Amino acid sequence: MTAEEIRALQRRCAVLVPDAQTRQTMTAAATRHAEGFIETLADAPAYRASSADDIAVLDEPFSEAPTEFESLLGIIRTAVDLPGVNTTAGGHLGYVPGGGLHASSLGDLLAATSNRYAGVAFASPGGARMEERLVDWLASVVGFPDTAAGDLASGGSIANLIGIVTARDAHGLAGGALPEHPIYVSSQTHHCVDKALRIAGLATCPRRVVATDARHRMDAGALRAAVEADRRAGLRPWLVIGSSGTTDAGAIDPLADIADIAETFGLWLHVDAAYGGFFMLVESAAARMSGIERADSLVMDPHKGMFLPYGTGALLVRQADALLSSQHYDANYMREAKQGSRQVSPSDLSPELSRHFRGLRMWLPLKLAGVAAFRAALEEKLLLAQYFHQHIGEAEGFERGPSPDLSIATYRYVPKRGDADQFNLKLVEAMLADGRVFVTSTKLDGKVTLRACALCVRTHLEHIELAIDLLRFHAKRLVNGAA
Ligand SMILES: *Cc1c(COP(=O)(O)O)cnc(C)c1O
Repeated sequence: MTAEEIRALQRRCAVLVPDAQTRQTMTAAATRHAEGFIETLADAPAYRASSADDIAVLDEPFSEAPTEFESLLGIIRTAVDLPGVNTTAGGHLGYVPGGGLHASSLGDLLAATSNRYAGVAFASPGGARMEERLVDWLASVVGFPDTAAGDLASGGSIANLIGIVTARDAHGLAGGALPEHPIYVSSQTHHCVDKALRIAGLATCPRRVVATDARHRMDAGALRAAVEADRRAGLRPWLVIGSSGTTDAGAIDPLADIADIAETFGLWLHVDAAYGGFFMLVESAAARMSGIERADSLVMDPHKGMFLPYGTGALLVRQADALLSSQHYDANYMREAKQGSRQVSPSDLSPELSRHFRGLRMWLPLKLAGVAAFRAALEEKLLLAQYFHQHIGEAEGFERGPSPDLSIATYRYVPKRGDADQFNLKLVEAMLADGRVFVTSTKLDGKVTLRACALCVRTHLEHIELAIDLLRFHAKRLVNGAA
């Protein structure tokens, strides 16, 4: 080994750390690309079917040689930016839309550039403090006490998993079969909770699917009866999962009643507010979520209700000690990190150690716009769902679901002849082929039901009016075509 050999390697990998001139050219090209994308959003379809050709370019093997940035941007445009669901388009009313705040993309750029090690307070005092304060703010939004702690995770599924593991550890349940420890959910509980229970080793806990009412909310009376029956049978009920904003219908479970039952019988109350949590910023919705502040753990998704790009969910735990004792770590090689700072690190409150500094993508838009702008945007989405609900109900042939608790309206077309389920599936297909507005279907009370969820930051009244027009137009065409 000679010094010359080492220097030759340094020259060969120089492309990994470009000079100032190259960086500026590349950043300018990336910015042009991003601007080009954003500029087309006003008229962009919310869904674009893709052909195999669009994405085949991604199957090209990785080569030893470098590729020009401009040609890679071209691939990103045709293979990634265009096909499928455009989650940043105002016409995106499917599933639970997010947003794609511009300020968050700048936050990601800056976070990736400085690459602060925000999971450890010793390594990034500022990054860790920023995330801690964001968690404190979230806790204040839902009315949690000062004793709370939490974690910014990658999304709601992981945040739910950490919450359920924390509950498990707080109840000292680990290993082996747990047939005496029932868990209470509803048919509307998000499927990631089922996954989390399996991953957490809790699949052997009996699962009681508590009945829901006509508005798809958990029936608190049925919950109480189920818990009492289990206790009479000698079992030890320990966990109830409430939803604050179900994914299908946006229904809010009766959280105060559920909290009473949890308190009476010593159950851990986990509230999945991944979708609905941020509506606590709007007074009218907050009133419907009363009781949420009594949860033991709670999930809310900034990449839904704060319009962040995907990659940020949050877990809050009412008693910090429970989260800390479930998630803390000890390692010889982290000695400096452990001694250098008295501040609790995010890595002590989460399974993650090295991770994206995801606080910045949330902090920047929150500071830049101020809370009032988020409050207004969320109130707008609530009113858009009510507007949609009212007008789709007046459209000929359409039947609407219950008035929305949050920003999801449910509805279906009821044809005079033929199978209604098949008709509604065809209607969704027609909407997909059109693409300007993206709506999805689900099954509620055994019937194929369509949904429209207003939560994309760019969804405004014109998109809701377009959605209603298109639904009426395509339903009429299907009726005529079938006649
Ligand atoms: C979206 C959602 C989840 C899952 O969260 P991800 O961020 O997609 O992982 C869980 N529960 C509810 C109610 C949701 O709406």
